[in-house]
Amino acid sequence: MVGNAVYWNEAGAPEPETSRADLPREIDVAVVGAGYTGLATALHLARGGRSVALFEAGQIGHGCSSRNGGMVGPSFHKLGMTGLTAKYGETRAYAIMQEGMNALDHFEAFVADEKLDCDLQMRGRFRGARTVADYDAMARECERLNSAVGLPFEMIAADDQRTEIGSDFYRGGVVYLRDGGIQPRKLAVALAAKAREAGVLLFSETPVTGIRRDGRGSELRCGGSTVRARDVVVATNAYADRRTDAMHSRVVQIETGAVATEEIPAALMAELSPKGRMFGESGRIFMWYRPTSDGRRFIFGGRMGRRGCSAEERAAATKKAIVRVFPQLAEIAISHAWSGEVAYTPDHAPHLGFEDGVWLAGGYCGSGVTRSLYFGTKLARRILGAADSGTAFDDLPFEKVPFKPFSRLVADLMTRWWAWQDMRDLRRRG
Ligand SMILES: Cc1cc2nc3c(=O)[nH]c(=O)nc-3n(C[C@H](O)[C@H](O)[C@H](O)COP(=O)(O)OP(=O)(O)OC[C@H]3O[C@@H](n4cnc5c(N)ncnc54)[C@H](O)[C@@H]3O)c2cc1C
Repeated sequence: MVGNAVYWNEAGAPEPETSRADLPREIDVAVVGAGYTGLATALHLARGGRSVALFEAGQIGHGCSSRNGGMVGPSFHKLGMTGLTAKYGETRAYAIMQEGMNALDHFEAFVADEKLDCDLQMRGRFRGARTVADYDAMARECERLNSAVGLPFEMIAADDQRTEIGSDFYRGGVVYLRDGGIQPRKLAVALAAKAREAGVLLFSETPVTGIRRDGRGSELRCGGSTVRARDVVVATNAYADRRTDAMHSRVVQIETGAVATEEIPAALMAELSPKGRMFGESGRIFMWYRPTSDGRRFIFGGRMGRRGCSAEERAAATKKAIVRVFPQLAEIAISHAWSGEVAYTPDHAPHLGFEDGVWLAGGYCGSGVTRSLYFGTKLARRILGAADSGTAFDDLPFEKVPFKPFSRLVADLMTRWWAWQDMRDLRRRG
Protein backbone atom coordinates (compact mmCIF):
# COMPACT_ATOMS: atom_id res chain seq x y z
CA MET A 1 0.00 0.00 0.00
CA VAL A 2 1.47 3.37 -1.04
CA GLY A 3 0.75 6.30 1.29
CA ASN A 4 0.03 9.74 -0.17
CA ALA A 5 1.82 11.60 2.66
CA VAL A 6 4.91 13.64 1.85
CA TYR A 7 7.88 11.59 3.06
CA TRP A 8 9.78 14.64 4.35
CA ASN A 9 6.96 15.55 6.75
CA GLU A 10 7.45 12.26 8.55
CA ALA A 11 11.23 12.37 8.55
CA GLY A 12 12.20 14.48 11.48
CA ALA A 13 10.85 18.03 11.29
CA PRO A 14 8.16 19.11 13.77
CA GLU A 15 5.29 21.45 12.96
CA PRO A 16 6.53 25.07 13.36
CA GLU A 17 5.09 27.16 16.14
CA THR A 18 2.65 29.80 14.95
CA SER A 19 1.15 32.91 16.48
CA ARG A 20 -1.72 32.53 18.93
CA ALA A 21 -2.46 36.25 18.94
CA ASP A 22 -5.50 37.72 17.16
CA LEU A 23 -4.90 38.98 13.65
CA PRO A 24 -3.37 42.49 13.76
CA ARG A 25 -5.58 45.32 12.51
CA GLU A 26 -2.63 47.19 11.05
CA ILE A 27 0.88 46.08 10.08
CA ASP A 28 3.79 47.46 8.04
CA VAL A 29 4.03 44.46 5.71
CA ALA A 30 1.63 41.58 5.08
CA VAL A 31 3.22 38.52 3.43
CA VAL A 32 0.92 36.00 1.74
CA GLY A 33 2.26 32.42 1.53
CA ALA A 34 4.61 30.70 3.99
CA GLY A 35 6.99 28.81 1.74
CA TYR A 36 10.69 29.60 1.50
CA THR A 37 10.00 32.86 -0.39
CA GLY A 38 7.47 34.24 2.07
CA LEU A 39 9.43 33.10 5.12
CA ALA A 40 12.76 34.52 3.87
CA THR A 41 11.19 37.83 2.85
CA ALA A 42 9.34 38.17 6.15
CA LEU A 43 12.46 37.32 8.16
CA HIS A 44 14.61 39.99 6.49
CA LEU A 45 11.86 42.61 6.69
CA ALA A 46 11.41 42.00 10.40
CA ARG A 47 15.15 42.25 10.96
CA GLY A 48 15.04 45.50 8.99
CA GLY A 49 12.66 46.94 11.57
CA ARG A 50 9.26 46.40 9.91
CA SER A 51 6.27 44.87 11.70
CA VAL A 52 5.39 41.81 9.59
CA ALA A 53 2.49 39.35 9.54
CA LEU A 54 2.67 36.24 7.38
CA PHE A 55 -0.57 34.55 6.32
CA GLU A 56 -0.56 30.94 5.12
CA ALA A 57 -3.63 29.16 3.76
CA GLY A 58 -2.51 25.72 4.99
CA GLN A 59 0.19 24.66 7.41
CA ILE A 60 3.52 26.53 7.32
CA GLY A 61 5.47 25.26 4.30
CA HIS A 62 2.41 23.41 2.99
CA GLY A 63 3.21 24.14 -0.67
CA CYS A 64 6.27 23.22 -2.71
CA SER A 65 8.61 24.06 0.14
CA SER A 66 7.89 20.76 1.93
CA ARG A 67 7.29 18.67 -1.18
CA ASN A 68 10.37 19.26 -3.27
CA GLY A 69 13.39 17.09 -4.01
CA GLY A 70 15.69 19.21 -1.86
CA MET A 71 18.31 19.45 -4.57
CA VAL A 72 20.39 22.60 -4.45
CA GLY A 73 22.72 24.01 -7.05
CA PRO A 74 23.27 27.07 -9.19
CA SER A 75 19.78 26.64 -10.83
CA PHE A 76 20.86 28.00 -14.18
CA HIS A 77 18.34 29.42 -16.64
CA LYS A 78 16.59 26.66 -18.58
CA LEU A 79 17.72 28.01 -21.96
CA GLY A 80 21.37 27.39 -21.13
CA MET A 81 24.25 29.67 -22.08
CA THR A 82 23.70 29.02 -25.80
CA GLY A 83 19.96 29.73 -25.75
CA LEU A 84 20.33 32.80 -23.56
CA THR A 85 23.09 34.27 -25.71
CA ALA A 86 20.94 33.83 -28.81
CA LYS A 87 18.01 35.59 -27.08
CA TYR A 88 19.66 38.35 -25.05
CA GLY A 89 23.29 38.62 -26.19
CA GLU A 90 26.44 37.50 -24.41
CA THR A 91 26.63 40.17 -21.68
CA ARG A 92 23.07 39.62 -20.44
CA ALA A 93 23.43 35.84 -20.75
CA TYR A 94 26.54 35.97 -18.59
CA ALA A 95 24.82 38.13 -15.94
CA ILE A 96 21.79 35.82 -15.77
CA MET A 97 23.95 32.73 -15.40
CA GLN A 98 26.07 34.47 -12.76
CA GLU A 99 22.87 34.97 -10.73
CA GLY A 100 22.63 31.18 -10.47
CA MET A 101 26.03 31.08 -8.79
CA ASN A 102 25.17 34.13 -6.63
CA ALA A 103 21.98 32.44 -5.41
CA LEU A 104 23.91 29.32 -4.46
CA ASP A 105 26.66 31.31 -2.68
CA HIS A 106 23.97 33.18 -0.78
CA PHE A 107 22.15 29.97 0.13
CA GLU A 108 25.22 28.17 1.45
CA ALA A 109 26.39 31.20 3.45
CA PHE A 110 22.91 31.81 4.88
CA VAL A 111 22.42 28.20 5.98
CA ALA A 112 25.87 28.22 7.62
CA ASP A 113 25.61 31.68 9.26
CA GLU A 114 22.12 31.04 10.62
CA LYS A 115 22.97 27.44 11.55
CA LEU A 116 19.80 26.24 9.81
CA ASP A 117 19.22 22.58 10.62
CA CYS A 118 18.32 21.24 7.15
CA ASP A 119 20.84 18.42 6.48
CA LEU A 120 22.75 20.41 3.84
CA GLN A 121 25.17 17.97 2.15
CA MET A 122 27.16 19.36 -0.78
CA ARG A 123 28.21 16.08 -2.43
CA GLY A 124 27.68 17.00 -6.07
CA ARG A 125 25.15 15.83 -8.65
CA PHE A 126 25.64 13.27 -11.41
CA ARG A 127 23.52 13.99 -14.51
CA GLY A 128 23.34 11.03 -16.84
CA ALA A 129 23.28 11.44 -20.63
CA ARG A 130 20.56 9.34 -22.23
CA THR A 131 22.26 9.54 -25.63
CA VAL A 132 25.74 10.18 -26.96
CA ALA A 133 24.44 13.41 -28.51
CA ASP A 134 23.23 14.50 -25.05
CA TYR A 135 26.67 13.74 -23.61
CA ASP A 136 28.36 15.92 -26.23
CA ALA A 137 25.86 18.74 -25.70
CA MET A 138 26.39 18.59 -21.90
CA ALA A 139 30.16 18.80 -22.36
CA ARG A 140 29.85 21.86 -24.60
CA GLU A 141 27.41 23.65 -22.26
CA CYS A 142 29.58 22.93 -19.21
CA GLU A 143 32.69 24.27 -20.97
CA ARG A 144 30.82 27.49 -21.71
CA LEU A 145 29.53 27.81 -18.14
CA ASN A 146 32.96 27.07 -16.76
CA SER A 147 34.59 29.84 -18.76
CA ALA A 148 31.68 32.28 -18.20
CA VAL A 149 30.96 31.84 -14.48
CA GLY A 150 33.51 29.31 -13.23
CA LEU A 151 31.13 26.35 -12.90
CA PRO A 152 33.20 23.41 -11.65
CA PHE A 153 32.31 20.12 -13.36
CA GLU A 154 33.74 16.77 -14.38
CA MET A 155 32.69 14.78 -17.46
CA ILE A 156 32.36 11.04 -16.77
CA ALA A 157 32.75 8.69 -19.73
CA ALA A 158 30.32 5.75 -20.02
CA ASP A 159 33.10 3.28 -19.13
CA ASP A 160 33.73 5.07 -15.80
CA GLN A 161 30.09 5.64 -14.91
CA ARG A 162 29.93 2.93 -12.26
CA THR A 163 32.17 5.03 -10.03
CA GLU A 164 29.26 7.49 -9.82
CA ILE A 165 26.10 5.45 -10.15
CA GLY A 166 25.10 1.79 -10.01
CA SER A 167 23.60 1.87 -13.49
CA ASP A 168 24.54 1.18 -17.12
CA PHE A 169 21.55 3.07 -18.50
CA TYR A 170 23.38 6.27 -19.38
CA ARG A 171 25.98 7.03 -22.05
CA GLY A 172 28.19 8.77 -19.50
CA GLY A 173 27.35 12.04 -17.79
CA VAL A 174 28.57 15.06 -15.92
CA VAL A 175 29.18 15.70 -12.24
CA TYR A 176 28.19 19.19 -11.11
CA LEU A 177 30.60 19.59 -8.25
CA ARG A 178 28.82 22.52 -6.55
CA ASP A 179 25.45 20.80 -6.19
CA GLY A 180 24.03 19.14 -3.11
CA GLY A 181 20.91 18.36 -1.15
CA ILE A 182 18.85 19.32 1.88
CA GLN A 183 15.88 17.90 3.78
CA PRO A 184 13.32 20.37 2.38
CA ARG A 185 10.80 20.25 5.22
CA LYS A 186 13.54 20.91 7.76
CA LEU A 187 14.52 24.06 5.86
CA ALA A 188 10.93 25.36 5.96
CA VAL A 189 10.69 24.65 9.69
CA ALA A 190 14.09 26.24 10.42
CA LEU A 191 13.18 29.38 8.45
CA ALA A 192 9.85 29.64 10.25
CA ALA A 193 11.64 29.48 13.62
CA LYS A 194 14.04 32.27 12.55
CA ALA A 195 11.17 34.40 11.27
CA ARG A 196 9.30 33.97 14.53
CA GLU A 197 12.41 34.83 16.55
CA ALA A 198 12.76 38.01 14.48
CA GLY A 199 9.23 39.02 15.45
CA VAL A 200 7.20 37.90 12.42
CA LEU A 201 3.60 37.00 13.31
CA LEU A 202 2.98 33.64 11.61
CA PHE A 203 -0.64 32.69 10.94
CA SER A 204 -1.32 29.22 9.53
CA GLU A 205 -4.72 28.09 8.20
CA THR A 206 -5.36 31.76 7.37
CA PRO A 207 -6.01 32.18 3.65
CA VAL A 208 -6.02 35.70 2.27
CA THR A 209 -9.21 35.94 0.26
CA GLY A 210 -8.87 39.42 -1.16
CA ILE A 211 -6.42 42.34 -1.44
CA ARG A 212 -7.73 45.84 -2.08
CA ARG A 213 -5.49 48.84 -2.74
CA ASP A 214 -6.38 52.32 -1.55
CA GLY A 215 -4.52 55.59 -1.02
CA ARG A 216 -3.06 54.56 2.36
CA GLY A 217 -1.82 51.09 1.44
CA SER A 218 -3.75 47.84 1.12
CA GLU A 219 -6.54 46.07 2.90
CA LEU A 220 -6.38 42.28 3.12
CA ARG A 221 -9.35 40.07 3.84
CA CYS A 222 -8.46 37.03 5.96
CA GLY A 223 -11.49 35.00 7.00
CA GLY A 224 -13.91 37.43 8.63
CA SER A 225 -11.19 40.00 9.49
CA THR A 226 -9.55 42.87 7.69
CA VAL A 227 -5.86 43.71 8.02
CA ARG A 228 -4.36 46.98 6.80
CA ALA A 229 -0.79 46.90 5.48
CA ARG A 230 1.51 49.53 4.02
CA ASP A 231 3.14 46.91 1.78
CA VAL A 232 1.94 43.50 0.61
CA VAL A 233 4.17 40.66 -0.57
CA VAL A 234 2.55 37.87 -2.55
CA ALA A 235 4.70 34.74 -2.25
CA THR A 236 2.15 32.16 -3.36
CA ASN A 237 4.12 31.00 -6.43
CA ALA A 238 2.50 27.90 -8.00
CA TYR A 239 -0.12 27.75 -5.23
CA ALA A 240 -1.55 31.08 -6.34
CA ASP A 241 -5.19 31.21 -7.40
CA ARG A 242 -7.52 34.09 -8.23
CA ARG A 243 -7.23 35.33 -4.62
CA THR A 244 -3.65 36.37 -5.42
CA ASP A 245 -4.22 37.04 -9.08
CA ALA A 246 -1.12 39.20 -9.56
CA MET A 247 0.91 35.98 -9.18
CA HIS A 248 -1.66 33.55 -10.60
CA SER A 249 -1.88 35.41 -13.90
CA ARG A 250 1.92 35.29 -14.36
CA VAL A 251 2.75 31.62 -13.86
CA VAL A 252 1.90 28.33 -15.54
CA GLN A 253 1.26 25.72 -12.86
CA ILE A 254 2.60 22.27 -13.62
CA GLU A 255 2.06 19.29 -11.39
CA THR A 256 5.12 17.24 -10.62
CA GLY A 257 5.35 14.10 -8.52
CA ALA A 258 7.76 12.43 -6.14
CA VAL A 259 8.03 9.05 -4.45
CA ALA A 260 10.07 7.59 -1.59
CA THR A 261 11.22 3.99 -1.55
CA GLU A 262 11.18 1.79 1.49
CA GLU A 263 14.54 1.40 3.23
CA ILE A 264 17.17 -0.07 0.93
CA PRO A 265 19.83 -2.51 2.26
CA ALA A 266 23.11 -0.66 2.92
CA ALA A 267 25.17 -2.71 0.42
CA LEU A 268 22.69 -2.03 -2.39
CA MET A 269 22.57 1.65 -1.47
CA ALA A 270 26.38 1.82 -1.71
CA GLU A 271 26.21 0.22 -5.16
CA LEU A 272 23.49 2.60 -6.46
CA SER A 273 25.01 5.74 -5.01
CA PRO A 274 28.71 5.17 -4.26
CA LYS A 275 29.36 8.87 -3.50
CA GLY A 276 25.99 9.91 -2.06
CA ARG A 277 25.44 12.32 -4.92
CA MET A 278 22.20 13.86 -6.17
CA PHE A 279 21.13 12.55 -9.60
CA GLY A 280 19.42 13.75 -12.74
CA GLU A 281 19.40 12.98 -16.44
CA SER A 282 19.15 14.59 -19.84
CA GLY A 283 15.91 14.55 -21.80
CA ARG A 284 12.94 16.83 -22.15
CA ILE A 285 10.90 15.06 -19.46
CA PHE A 286 13.47 13.72 -17.07
CA MET A 287 13.61 12.03 -13.71
CA TRP A 288 15.54 13.45 -10.75
CA TYR A 289 16.51 11.28 -7.82
CA ARG A 290 18.59 11.26 -4.67
CA PRO A 291 19.33 9.35 -1.52
CA THR A 292 17.63 10.72 1.60
CA SER A 293 19.91 12.62 3.99
CA ASP A 294 20.26 9.53 6.20
CA GLY A 295 21.23 7.46 3.12
CA ARG A 296 18.60 4.80 3.75
CA ARG A 297 16.08 5.45 0.97
CA PHE A 298 15.83 6.99 -2.46
CA ILE A 299 13.49 9.79 -3.52
CA PHE A 300 12.59 9.88 -7.23
CA GLY A 301 10.55 12.56 -8.95
CA GLY A 302 9.44 14.13 -12.18
CA ARG A 303 6.37 14.42 -14.36
CA MET A 304 5.42 10.76 -14.04
CA GLY A 305 1.76 9.82 -13.79
CA ARG A 306 -1.32 11.74 -14.91
CA ARG A 307 -2.22 15.07 -13.34
CA GLY A 308 -4.23 14.41 -10.18
CA CYS A 309 -3.61 10.64 -10.26
CA SER A 310 -3.72 8.45 -7.14
CA ALA A 311 -0.63 7.64 -5.06
CA GLU A 312 -0.77 4.04 -6.39
CA GLU A 313 -0.83 5.21 -10.02
CA ARG A 314 1.99 7.68 -9.44
CA ALA A 315 4.08 5.01 -7.75
CA ALA A 316 3.51 2.57 -10.63
CA ALA A 317 4.38 5.16 -13.31
CA THR A 318 7.51 6.21 -11.44
CA LYS A 319 8.57 2.61 -10.82
CA LYS A 320 8.75 2.05 -14.59
CA ALA A 321 11.20 4.94 -14.93
CA ILE A 322 13.14 3.78 -11.85
CA VAL A 323 13.80 0.22 -13.00
CA ARG A 324 14.98 1.48 -16.37
CA VAL A 325 17.86 3.15 -14.51
CA PHE A 326 18.11 0.82 -11.49
CA PRO A 327 16.81 -2.71 -12.30
CA GLN A 328 18.18 -3.61 -8.85
CA LEU A 329 15.21 -1.76 -7.30
CA ALA A 330 12.54 -3.92 -8.97
CA GLU A 331 11.71 -5.64 -5.69
CA ILE A 332 11.99 -2.56 -3.45
CA ALA A 333 8.53 -1.12 -2.70
CA ILE A 334 7.49 2.52 -2.89
CA SER A 335 6.23 3.69 0.50
CA HIS A 336 5.14 7.30 -0.24
CA ALA A 337 3.94 9.09 -3.38
CA TRP A 338 2.94 12.76 -3.49
CA SER A 339 2.81 15.69 -5.85
CA GLY A 340 3.25 19.45 -5.87
CA GLU A 341 2.79 22.36 -8.24
CA VAL A 342 5.71 24.17 -9.79
CA ALA A 343 5.48 27.64 -11.36
CA TYR A 344 6.83 28.24 -14.86
CA THR A 345 7.04 31.63 -16.52
CA PRO A 346 6.77 32.37 -20.25
CA ASP A 347 10.44 33.42 -20.43
CA HIS A 348 11.68 30.55 -18.19
CA ALA A 349 13.11 33.08 -15.71
CA PRO A 350 12.23 33.73 -12.06
CA HIS A 351 11.10 37.28 -11.30
CA LEU A 352 10.64 39.98 -8.73
CA GLY A 353 7.71 42.22 -9.60
CA PHE A 354 5.37 44.94 -8.40
CA GLU A 355 1.76 45.50 -9.43
CA ASP A 356 -0.85 47.73 -7.94
CA GLY A 357 0.70 47.88 -4.48
CA VAL A 358 1.64 44.20 -4.40
CA TRP A 359 5.24 42.95 -4.43
CA LEU A 360 5.86 39.60 -6.11
CA ALA A 361 8.65 37.03 -6.05
CA GLY A 362 8.44 33.66 -7.75
CA GLY A 363 8.29 31.76 -11.03
CA TYR A 364 11.29 29.56 -10.24
CA CYS A 365 10.51 27.05 -13.01
CA GLY A 366 10.99 24.00 -10.78
CA SER A 367 14.33 25.15 -9.32
CA GLY A 368 13.40 27.29 -6.36
CA VAL A 369 15.24 26.06 -3.31
CA THR A 370 18.26 28.34 -3.61
CA ARG A 371 16.50 30.99 -5.70
CA SER A 372 13.62 31.54 -3.27
CA LEU A 373 15.95 32.38 -0.39
CA TYR A 374 17.96 34.68 -2.65
CA PHE A 375 14.89 36.40 -4.11
CA GLY A 376 13.29 36.72 -0.68
CA THR A 377 16.38 38.56 0.55
CA LYS A 378 16.48 40.82 -2.51
CA LEU A 379 12.78 41.63 -2.25
CA ALA A 380 13.08 42.51 1.44
CA ARG A 381 16.01 44.83 0.65
CA ARG A 382 13.96 46.47 -2.09
CA ILE A 383 11.04 47.11 0.25
CA LEU A 384 13.39 48.41 2.95
CA GLY A 385 15.03 50.74 0.42
CA ALA A 386 18.40 49.07 1.12
CA ALA A 387 21.33 48.76 -1.28
CA ASP A 388 22.02 45.58 -3.28
CA SER A 389 18.42 44.76 -4.09
CA GLY A 390 18.87 44.23 -7.84
CA THR A 391 19.00 41.01 -9.82
CA ALA A 392 20.04 40.29 -13.39
CA PHE A 393 16.39 39.47 -14.12
CA ASP A 394 15.17 42.98 -13.34
CA ASP A 395 15.10 44.15 -16.96
CA LEU A 396 13.03 41.15 -18.02
CA PRO A 397 9.36 42.03 -17.49
CA PHE A 398 7.29 39.65 -15.31
CA GLU A 399 4.74 39.12 -18.10
CA LYS A 400 1.27 37.71 -17.72
CA VAL A 401 0.80 34.25 -19.23
CA PRO A 402 -1.04 34.56 -22.53
CA PHE A 403 -4.32 32.56 -22.64
CA LYS A 404 -3.85 31.66 -18.97
CA PRO A 405 -7.07 29.56 -18.64
CA PHE A 406 -5.66 27.15 -21.23
CA SER A 407 -2.10 27.08 -19.89
CA ARG A 408 -2.44 23.82 -17.93
CA LEU A 409 -3.94 22.04 -20.90
CA VAL A 410 -1.17 23.30 -23.18
CA ALA A 411 1.45 22.24 -20.60
CA ASP A 412 -0.08 18.74 -20.43
CA LEU A 413 -0.04 18.42 -24.22
CA MET A 414 3.55 19.66 -24.43
CA THR A 415 4.57 17.18 -21.72
CA ARG A 416 3.12 14.30 -23.76
CA TRP A 417 4.79 15.52 -26.93
CA TRP A 418 8.18 15.85 -25.24
CA ALA A 419 7.80 12.44 -23.56
CA TRP A 420 7.08 10.93 -26.97
CA GLN A 421 10.20 12.62 -28.42
CA ASP A 422 12.27 11.27 -25.52
CA MET A 423 11.01 7.73 -26.18
CA ARG A 424 11.88 8.10 -29.84
CA ASP A 425 15.43 9.21 -28.95
CA LEU A 426 15.83 6.21 -26.65
CA ARG A 427 14.58 3.77 -29.31
CA ARG A 428 16.97 5.24 -31.85
CA ARG A 429 20.01 4.99 -29.59
CA GLY A 430 19.62 1.18 -29.63
C1 LIG B 1 7.85 17.62 -6.44
C2 LIG B 1 8.71 18.85 -6.48
C3 LIG B 1 10.08 18.72 -6.50
C4 LIG B 1 10.90 19.86 -6.53
N1 LIG B 1 12.25 19.70 -6.43
C5 LIG B 1 13.05 20.78 -6.38
C6 LIG B 1 14.44 20.61 -6.18
O1 LIG B 1 14.94 19.49 -5.99
N2 LIG B 1 15.23 21.72 -6.18
C7 LIG B 1 14.71 22.97 -6.35
O2 LIG B 1 15.47 23.94 -6.38
N3 LIG B 1 13.37 23.17 -6.48
C8 LIG B 1 12.53 22.11 -6.48
N4 LIG B 1 11.18 22.28 -6.58
C9 LIG B 1 10.65 23.66 -6.61
C10 LIG B 1 10.69 24.34 -5.23
O3 LIG B 1 10.15 23.49 -4.26
C11 LIG B 1 9.88 25.65 -5.27
O4 LIG B 1 10.38 26.46 -6.32
C12 LIG B 1 9.96 26.44 -3.97
O5 LIG B 1 9.66 25.64 -2.86
C13 LIG B 1 8.99 27.62 -4.05
O6 LIG B 1 8.84 28.18 -2.77
P1 LIG B 1 7.78 29.32 -2.55
O7 LIG B 1 7.90 29.76 -1.16
O8 LIG B 1 7.93 30.38 -3.59
O9 LIG B 1 6.37 28.61 -2.84
P2 LIG B 1 5.59 27.54 -1.96
O10 LIG B 1 6.49 26.78 -1.07
O11 LIG B 1 4.74 26.76 -2.91
O12 LIG B 1 4.67 28.44 -1.01
C14 LIG B 1 3.52 29.11 -1.46
C15 LIG B 1 2.51 29.10 -0.30
O13 LIG B 1 1.46 30.02 -0.56
C16 LIG B 1 0.31 29.53 0.12
N5 LIG B 1 -0.88 30.22 -0.40
C17 LIG B 1 -1.42 30.16 -1.64
N6 LIG B 1 -2.49 30.98 -1.72
C18 LIG B 1 -2.63 31.57 -0.52
C19 LIG B 1 -3.57 32.52 0.02
N7 LIG B 1 -4.56 33.04 -0.72
N8 LIG B 1 -3.44 32.90 1.32
C20 LIG B 1 -2.45 32.41 2.10
N9 LIG B 1 -1.53 31.50 1.63
C21 LIG B 1 -1.62 31.09 0.34
C22 LIG B 1 0.36 28.04 -0.19
O14 LIG B 1 -0.46 27.29 0.71
C23 LIG B 1 1.84 27.74 -0.10
O15 LIG B 1 2.22 27.22 1.17
C24 LIG B 1 10.32 21.17 -6.57
C25 LIG B 1 8.94 21.29 -6.56
C26 LIG B 1 8.13 20.16 -6.51
C27 LIG B 1 6.63 20.31 -6.47
